[in-house]
Amino acid sequence: MKLRVLVLISTAVSLTSVAQQDPQQLADAELPSLLTVYKDIHAHPELSTQEQRTAALLAKELRAVGCDVTENVGKYETANQKCYGVVGVMKNGDGPVVLVRTDLDALPVQEETGLPYASKVVTKNEKGDDVPVMHACGHDAHVSILIGVARSLAKLKDQWRGTIVFVGQPAEELGTGARAMLRDGLYTRWPKPNFALGFHDKADLEINHIGVTEGYTSANVDSVDVTVHGIGGHGAYVHRTKDPIVLAAEIINQWQTIASRETNPLDPIVVTVGSIHGGTKHNVIPNEVKMQLTVRTYKADVREHVLAAIERIAKGCATAAGLPPDKMPTVTVARDQFAPAMYNNPDLTKRLFAVWKKALGGQNVEMVDPTMGGEDFSEYSLLPEHSIPAVNFHVGAVDPAKMAESKKPGASPLPTLHSSKFAPVPEPTIRTGVVAMTAAVLDLMKK
Ligand SMILES: [Zn+2]
Ligand SMILES: [Zn+2]
Repeated sequence: MKLRVLVLISTAVSLTSVAQQDPQQLADAELPSLLTVYKDIHAHPELSTQEQRTAALLAKELRAVGCDVTENVGKYETANQKCYGVVGVMKNGDGPVVLVRTDLDALPVQEETGLPYASKVVTKNEKGDDVPVMHACGHDAHVSILIGVARSLAKLKDQWRGTIVFVGQPAEELGTGARAMLRDGLYTRWPKPNFALGFHDKADLEINHIGVTEGYTSANVDSVDVTVHGIGGHGAYVHRTKDPIVLAAEIINQWQTIASRETNPLDPIVVTVGSIHGGTKHNVIPNEVKMQLTVRTYKADVREHVLAAIERIAKGCATAAGLPPDKMPTVTVARDQFAPAMYNNPDLTKRLFAVWKKALGGQNVEMVDPTMGGEDFSEYSLLPEHSIPAVNFHVGAVDPAKMAESKKPGASPLPTLHSSKFAPVPEPTIRTGVVAMTAAVLDLMKK
C-alpha cells in the first residue's frame, strides 16, 4: 500500500515536470509579464553609467526567482564613479558554471518610433547637458529576455545542475562596463564560468530567427586622436609656411594603404577618419589640424600593427613635408575606450547551433556574416587567449513584411541599431531570446 502511494506521488511529480519541461511553453507563459517589464524599461531608459533604475529592477527580478544578488558591482577607471553592475547567482548543486549576460544602458537619441510606450526621457549627460534618452540598441529587450531566462531556469531545476551567474552589465555603449565588472572581481568574488553566453537583438534579422557567427563576429574598436602640426601663415605666401591641411590630406590617403598594402588582405581592417577640423578663414594657413579616427580590426597582432602604422605614416609624411622633429604629429590611442573583438568559440558555436535548431526549428537558425561593429561582451572570454569559451548570438527583431518591403527598389532602408526609429517587435524577439538562451544553458548544464 505504502509503495503504491509512493508510485502515485512520483507519477504526479513527473507529470508536473513533464508539463514544465519545455522552454517554449515556459517562455509563452511568461511573455505577458515580460512584455510589461519591457515596456516599463523602454519608457525609462538610462544613459551609460547611469543605469540605477534598470539595475534595481533586474536585481529585484533575480531575487524573486531565488538568485543570490549583489548590486553596484563594477569599478570604472575614474575613481569613485558609481557602477550599476548586477550579479545574480542561481545555484543548483555541483556542476558547470555558466555566465549569462545582458547589458543595461540606453543612448542619447530622441525617440521617433511613435510607439505608445516611447521614451520621453531627457536627462543630463556627463558634461551636464540635457539630452534625450532612448533604448535605440534594444538593451531593454535584453534585460527582459534575461529575466525570462532566469524565471524559466528556476522552474527547470530538475533538468540542470551547477551554477548560473546572471550578469547585468552597465556602460556597454562606452565599451567600459565589462572591464569595470571584471576589475571589481567578477571572476574572483563569484564563481569563474566554464562558458559565457551573451546575445544581441539584430536590426536586419527577422523575428523568430537566431543568427550566429563562428569565430570572430565583431571587431576590435579603437578611437585615435591625431593632431597634425604645421607652420601657419598667409594663404598666398605658402613658401613661408608648412601647410597642415595639405599634410593631413596626404596622411589620410596614406592610411588607406595600411589595409591595401601593408597587411594580409584576408585580415579585415577599417581606418575611418570620422572628424577633421582645421583652419578659420580662406586665406590663412592654420597651425594645426585635428582628426578623430575609428579603427577596426579582428586580430590582436593586426590591431597593434595598424595602430603603430597610423603613427608611423603620420610622422613619415610630416618628415617628408619638411617639418622639424618638434612638429611631428601627435597620435593618441584612447586605450581606456577600447572594445576588443568578439570571438565565438567554434566548438561551442557548433554545439549551440544544433541545440537551437532543435529548440526553434532548423529553418529559424542561421549562420550570419561577421561585422566590423563592436561589443564588449568579448571581455568575458578573458583576453587575449579567449580561455573561457564564449558565444554572443543574434536575436531577430524585425517584422518580415517590413524586411521584404525594405528590399523593394526605391524603398527606404530599415532603421539600424542606434536609429531613432529602431524598436524590436517585442513579443517574438523576447520569446525567441528566452527560448534560445534557456535551451543553450540547459544543454551546457544538463544532468
Ligand atoms: Zn549599441
Ligand atoms: Zn547594443
